[in-house]
Amino acid sequence: MVVITLQRNKCIGCNYCVELAPGQFQMSKKDGKSVLLHAQEKKGFFTLKSPDETIYDVAVEAKKACPVKIIAVKQM
Ligand code: SF4
Repeated sequence: MVVITLQRNKCIGCNYCVELAPGQFQMSKKDGKSVLLHAQEKKGFFTLKSPDETIYDVAVEAKKACPVKIIAVKQM
C-alpha cells in the first residue's frame, strides 16, 4: 500500500508534482493549486491510499521536487 499526503493549502502551484507524477497530481484550473487525485480530505490534508505499488517511485520524486515540502509518501 502506498500512502500519499498533500497539505494542499500551502501549495504554490509550481507544477513540479504534476510533471513528475501526472497519474497522481493535476493542477486545478480554479485556484492554481495541485490536486491529489482520488484523495480523501481531512482538516486540509488530502490523502490517497493506493494498493498500486508502482506509483511509489514517481510519488517520491514529486515529494523531493516540491519546494514547499507539502507532499509526504509512505509505503505500508
Ligand atoms: S510540487 Fe508542491 S508546491 Fe509545486 S504544485 Fe506540487 S504540491 Fe504544489
